[in-house]
Amino acid sequence: MIITRPRDWERIREQLAAVSASRVFIVGCGQCATVANTGGEPEVLAAKERLVGEGFEVTGWSVGEVACHTSGQRLESRKHSGEIDAADAVLVLACGAGVQTMADAVEGKPVLPGLESVFLGNVVRHGVFEERCQMCGDCVLDRTGGICPVTTCPKGLLNGPCGGMWNGMCEVLTDRECAHVRIRQRLIEQGRSRGAEPLPPKDYSKKLKPGRVDLRAERHGGDAS
Ligand code: SF4
Ligand code: SF4
Repeated sequence: MIITRPRDWERIREQLAAVSASRVFIVGCGQCATVANTGGEPEVLAAKERLVGEGFEVTGWSVGEVACHTSGQRLESRKHSGEIDAADAVLVLACGAGVQTMADAVEGKPVLPGLESVFLGNVVRHGVFEERCQMCGDCVLDRTGGICPVTTCPKGLLNGPCGGMWNGMCEVLTDRECAHVRIRQRLIEQGRSRGAEPLPPKDYSKKLKPGRVDLRAERHGGDAS
């Protein structure tokens, strides 16, 4: 899921002031931001209370199913069109993709981020998240025992360990085992080796921005770039 954290409230106030907004509509997200406790209903209501306490008028709020779903968010916005029309700005408690989806849905109105999007991560336990994948577009987990070297090695080395590894521990994140030691151990446990060939350099052309995948075109043999 996309991990988000609350945006500094002072910045939220500044961005509302920059567009002279005194009336605000708040949008949350029913998926990642709800699980992360950053943009679900309780957080949206807390933001509403805070804004009202600071003298803003909150014209309404919504927490749709998935903030980054284009048609879903358009539908959700239509349901609240009167409240959105009455607002000077929309504050979105969702990841950057959700903010942009909302910005497309209500083009004539300033749409402002209420969260910081930090990474694609795993939920380790309630309120604790870890980055496990940088979405490189060319996954090597089949060769690395299901441990991502691109993400879990701070240097992103593919064929480590680096010279700084000491006693199995990482020289950068000194409280953690070296990712490459873990990879090696896991492969040994599975009776496998990484093979004689080192992993080739990453093909970062697969990570060209902005990313786009059209699975429908791929299924029909068309251009899926
Ligand atoms: S190699 Fe790592 S960063 Fe790339 S897709 Fe696989 S898990 Fe994600
Ligand atoms: S010690 Fe291991 S995990 Fe840490 S930076 Fe070096 S290779 Fe990467």
